[in-house]
Amino acid sequence: MNKGKDKIMDLVKKRDPNETEFIQAIEEMLPSISKVLDNHPEFSEKSILERMIEPERIITFRVAWVDDKGEVQVNRGFRVQMNSAIGPYKGGLRFHPTVNLSILKFLAFEQIFKNALTNLPLGAGKGGADFDPKGRSDDEIMRFCYAFMQELFRHIGDFTDVPAGDIGVGSREIGYLFGMYKKLKNKFSGIITGKGEDWGGSVIRPEATGYGLIYFASYMLKAKDDTLKGKKCLVSGAGNVAQFAIEKIIDMGGIPISLSDSSGYIVDREGIDTEKLDFIKKLKNEKQGRIKDYAEKYPGSEYHETKDGQKFNPLWKVEADCVFPCATQNEINEKDAENLVSNNVTLLAEGANMPCGTKAISIIQDSRILYAPGKSTNSGGVAVSGLEMSQNRRGVYWDREEVDKHLKDIMKNIHDVCLKTAEEYGNPGNYLEGANIFSFLKVAKAMKDQGVV
Ligand code: NDP
Repeated sequence: MNKGKDKIMDLVKKRDPNETEFIQAIEEMLPSISKVLDNHPEFSEKSILERMIEPERIITFRVAWVDDKGEVQVNRGFRVQMNSAIGPYKGGLRFHPTVNLSILKFLAFEQIFKNALTNLPLGAGKGGADFDPKGRSDDEIMRFCYAFMQELFRHIGDFTDVPAGDIGVGSREIGYLFGMYKKLKNKFSGIITGKGEDWGGSVIRPEATGYGLIYFASYMLKAKDDTLKGKKCLVSGAGNVAQFAIEKIIDMGGIPISLSDSSGYIVDREGIDTEKLDFIKKLKNEKQGRIKDYAEKYPGSEYHETKDGQKFNPLWKVEADCVFPCATQNEINEKDAENLVSNNVTLLAEGANMPCGTKAISIIQDSRILYAPGKSTNSGGVAVSGLEMSQNRRGVYWDREEVDKHLKDIMKNIHDVCLKTAEEYGNPGNYLEGANIFSFLKVAKAMKDQGVV
């Protein structure tokens, strides 16, 4: 029997009442999935959904390390091994002071469906630590990564669990994590993705999430006989996803006009061009600078500080055609969504994971804005990670042209499958429903085939 979405929600809330982000992620999936469950009693009979919302394994561990002053610091490390029905656990590591189990479980839950959409054999996981890399020296970052891997190495492997980067974990951290794994295991294998190109990494992995997002958006526009050309684009964040989203927007003739970090945002109405983007890349990737420095360098732009406790984000009041939230979860609330609707925005495609709150999504979906969720639009990163795993296993390396072609094909396929599924289930144009239903069906069938484990 389909236990119904209310019963599932009661179960989650009873078991983990404080895990607000995890509860939010399940709440966002359930309306689409209950339609499927009505037609597939076999899933309910085998309690597929009840099993899907419970991680297969959670590892929490102490990360003790010594800072530059010689003082011992203690952080908490995590790995959530969420679902291995269609492949080894796969998902990034996040180093940020806000990291907790609720956030990692929501990310790991989203990862189940995102990875299934890529059509690659990838299960789902997520991990990280409540470590704040800001203001830490390179040596401190290295010692922290080493200490983190000294526990994590026991639980991962190229056919078991393959982490990658996320907020606070870029190519530098991946290098240190890989270096310690190799030393502990005396083995050079593809246990992490996002590696350097000279030591097992795939070309286009750093670019993949941002590029994939913009490819996806261009397919959404194409389905409406439209293009990105000349469109003003709001982008939030200034990290990996935001930088390469901006690069691809410029490439496709769009005009990116904003960026943000946790201190504030800039608006540059003249447009962020390639030279300005190079400045941002150096500022953020090499100097650990703040986005405020952009406004000092380019006086034609404006800088606004984000005030603590602000109920809405004034960035989303800026007039634009396309909107790409690429910073973090819940950066667009209902008030922000109302502002986007009154500004007649054409498209909102999520670069970050769950950047829109549940009420914001309803407001956006009730409007004329074309909307697609992160699990479909930001899957380019994990897709190229999957390609990196294939290359590592086969000992081959593909060039930029080949990887970019795979990335475009995968994003096109996800786009098309979301539209087709939404149409089949009576909700044409609803990318959220298409993404949820298609990916759920795929994982649910695999779980059913493998029995009760
Ligand atoms: P980065 O660490 O490279 O950049 C994150 C950016 O967002 C920074 O500019 C950061 O500002 C800002 N930010 C982070 N937290 C907050 C916050 N609480 N409030 C305001 N700003 C914040 O991360 P990524 O670009 O890799 O990731 C961005 C998003 O994309 C995340 O949601 C991630 O899960 C998602 N994602 C990333 C993928 C990848 O391949 N990297 C793949 C799929 C999804 P500051 O420096 O001030 O903290």
